[in-house]
Amino acid sequence: MNVLDRHAIDVPIFDRAAFRLADDEAELIERTRKFGARVLAPRAAQHDRDATFPIENFRDMHHEGLLAICVPREEGGTGASFRTYCLAAAELGRYCGATALSWNMHVCSTLWTGSLADDLELSAAERAEHKRRRSLHYRRIVQHGAIYSQPFSEGGAAAAGVVAFGTEAKPVDGGFLVSGKKIFASLSGAADYYGVLCTERGEGEAASRRNTLYLAVPSTAAGVSVVGDWDPLGMRATVSRTLLLKDVFVPEDEMLMPHGVYFRAATSWPHMFLTLSPTYMGLAQAAYDFTVAYLRGELPGTPPVKRRMFPTKQIAVAEMHITLEQTKALWFQAISEARANPTKEQVLRAYAAQFTVMENANALAAKAIRTCGGQAMLKSLALERIYRDSRCGSLMLPWTAEICLDRLGRETLYEPGEKDE
Ligand SMILES: Cc1cc2nc3c(=O)[nH]c(=O)nc-3n(C[C@H](O)[C@H](O)[C@H](O)COP(=O)(O)OP(=O)(O)OC[C@H]3O[C@@H](n4cnc5c(N)ncnc54)[C@H](O)[C@@H]3O)c2cc1C
Repeated sequence: MNVLDRHAIDVPIFDRAAFRLADDEAELIERTRKFGARVLAPRAAQHDRDATFPIENFRDMHHEGLLAICVPREEGGTGASFRTYCLAAAELGRYCGATALSWNMHVCSTLWTGSLADDLELSAAERAEHKRRRSLHYRRIVQHGAIYSQPFSEGGAAAAGVVAFGTEAKPVDGGFLVSGKKIFASLSGAADYYGVLCTERGEGEAASRRNTLYLAVPSTAAGVSVVGDWDPLGMRATVSRTLLLKDVFVPEDEMLMPHGVYFRAATSWPHMFLTLSPTYMGLAQAAYDFTVAYLRGELPGTPPVKRRMFPTKQIAVAEMHITLEQTKALWFQAISEARANPTKEQVLRAYAAQFTVMENANALAAKAIRTCGGQAMLKSLALERIYRDSRCGSLMLPWTAEICLDRLGRETLYEPGEKDE
């Protein structure tokens, strides 16, 4: 059996009937899964080894309609909901974690400006302005396959949502002059537009998180440069180098959200930050799939030696199965209830789901290596990459594993405004 045949027998992570998926939802997810198995899986190892960006995956995703998966239907996209997107992204993460994670950065530029923004309370003027501007971005994606990225992190407390972004946008005639530095800018050098979060700050004004601006900075604009090397442990094909912006003129129409609306989105639609988790849900499934195939002696590239008859292997797979089902159940609930102004219980569940997916993906990969044994961690097989890629999930701001624990503990014990004497 070769790699393609092996993945051809994979079944969806979330079964249509068991999880009561709508027919069109299940069909889109299934199409995405088949694309991941057929197109992404065979290319993943080389991009991981060389730490190169899989641009051909994005060109193929454009032809498949996947770059526009969350672009509203009336704008020429597929109009997938938050949940449908998450389920489709998990299927891609199963076959290439780095492509799924980079795709997430791109898709969020359309999901957040699309169905998520439609849920926010905007004035009629803000709504009209936003709809006009987002059409521009959507046209670039639908018609020309433009790629957007999401460089928010700066190495300080801003990406965690604690202080205002140090990257600043100074209002000038017709737009903004943007200066700053973004670290871990996935798709650096490959994206056509960098969806930068920065602080809009006029002369003499104090920096405030309320004035966060979400701007699409053209990669070819004067003053944009990508610096530094990229040789990380995992997610190597995201090519997340450092982005420097020096007095970059960005026209007003490149605003991805109207003034002050990103802050409103971040506070009233918190599940928007759960969008990094689908990739790792897919990696959790991949670690499990690998283990079952390996122990059955059916993994392409390995001798057909069965190891399934040992009770210790059976117990290990049983434990992995339980962890995977627990992870799926909690995550599915959290992505299904994402909405504007969620209840406190829903927000706490979202933190719990994010923590669980990010930690369990790596725990499953580690257990897969221990269970399958030494030959299974050779670089010629996918498990070694799955292990390294899955290690990155719990580090990703703004909802790192530590921050999820921190908020869960505090928000469980304190109601808003409560203090100890
Ligand atoms: C493969 C990969 C791709 C990435 N791609 C992108 C991207 O495209 N765009 C982007 O914006 N970022 C991206 N990131 C960056 C990521 O989201 C984080 O910003 C980055 O990993 C933070 O690294 P740091 O060492 O600066 O963390 P620090 O800010 O130094 O934090 C270190 C740890 O301290 C904890 N911590 C930090 N702040 C708080 C707090 N306020 N309260 C409690 N605990 C806290 C967290 O657990 C955190 O993990 C990517 C990261 C990786 C690994």
